[in-house]
Amino acid sequence: MPTRLNGAVLKVSHMCETARSSLPNQAVTEKETSRATWIKQLNAPLGEIDPEIADIIELEKARQWKGLELIPSENFTSVAVMQAVGSVMTNKYSEGYPGARYYGGNEYIDMAESLCQKRALEAFQLDPAKWGGYSKPWLGIYDLSLQKLHTDTKKISAVSIFFETMPYRLNESKGYIDYEQLEKSAALFRPKLIVAGSSAYAGLYDYAHIRKVCDKQKAIMLADMAHISGLVAAGVIPSPFEYADVVTTTSHKSLHGPHGAMIFFRKGLKEINKKGEDVMYDYEDKINKAVFPGLQGGPHNHTISGLAIALKQARTPDYKSYQEQVLSNCSKFAQCLLEKGYDLVSGGTENHLVLVNLRDKGIDGSRVEKVLESVHIAANKNTVPGDVSAMVPGAFVWEPQLCHLEGLLKKILLRLLTSLMQL
Ligand SMILES: *Cc1c(COP(=O)(O)O)cnc(C)c1O
Repeated sequence: MPTRLNGAVLKVSHMCETARSSLPNQAVTEKETSRATWIKQLNAPLGEIDPEIADIIELEKARQWKGLELIPSENFTSVAVMQAVGSVMTNKYSEGYPGARYYGGNEYIDMAESLCQKRALEAFQLDPAKWGGYSKPWLGIYDLSLQKLHTDTKKISAVSIFFETMPYRLNESKGYIDYEQLEKSAALFRPKLIVAGSSAYAGLYDYAHIRKVCDKQKAIMLADMAHISGLVAAGVIPSPFEYADVVTTTSHKSLHGPHGAMIFFRKGLKEINKKGEDVMYDYEDKINKAVFPGLQGGPHNHTISGLAIALKQARTPDYKSYQEQVLSNCSKFAQCLLEKGYDLVSGGTENHLVLVNLRDKGIDGSRVEKVLESVHIAANKNTVPGDVSAMVPGAFVWEPQLCHLEGLLKKILLRLLTSLMQL
């Protein structure tokens, strides 16, 4: 019968292989079962399994390498971080917190997460008795600056669906946050929470001032240092931790880690009340419950492991000099632009980004973004005080990420960038 015959032929071919292979007969049979080939597939490299995606990744790698990436919210993380992000840590479910999980088998996941938490406190020089913190896959309190473009019928982020928000603004002529106006608005609006943080502000925050307003209004002070956390970790700009109750940050911007986020909260003794009793901070429990089970599903353990590595790297002297270089490049670039007669919002920069106001140049941020893209320079458009559209804003932001380039090359690039601005 044909099936028999097939069977017999198969058998013969097995035997032939046996003759060549050093494996015992039964092992050779198993090697040919689908289970064995599936395992082989699982272990085969990407290029073999999926050349399409492999090519796309190579193209993206080349784009990142050949072009000039000047988007302030982006960065190049380390190979070590990427190895952790692409590791078996992605396989594990671990809802809950270290030591209190819904799934079994979290012995090593707990180790990685606890280490990440410990390093997070160390990276920002926080006392574990006074601060807690952990990482989560997303941040999401995104872009209150966009709120000013909202209308009642158009809520563009979840923040405006869940909460009633009120933006504070820059003083249009000075380009600095108008703290006096913030104080007046807060007295009328009576916020429960004030956010100190932004995505396109070239100045430093006056955290002490915002703390004062929070105390007056009995509001929680949340510092969202997403953009600047790398500079804070390196100690090259002021830290919000001295004043804030809660601090949030992404981990992939200036911090230099994998794509993720962290929350820090104060804990321990808050104050002694009029009756002489201890009042404790109660953020830990509330935030933990809001994150899980409130909002988040399974933690991204590969990201948490990658973040632990980035936080370790953030404590090295090399990291500090890298962040010093970021500040120095950025201020040189701002100087070049000012010399060419460009109007910089905030009059210059005190951090890692430059916000160029193009309105008196008769061009908008979207067009400049497109022109730069065509010559492999990635920058991003942004609104400036007084803009009416977030899609066609009057400015764009650049971060001179030229740290990996040396002397002359850096000078040439700075000149090239400033001449491109003439286009
Ligand atoms: C980037 C950023 C975030 C987080 O944005 P995601 O889209 O969640 O990554 C939050 N706040 C500020 C100020 C930011 O710049």
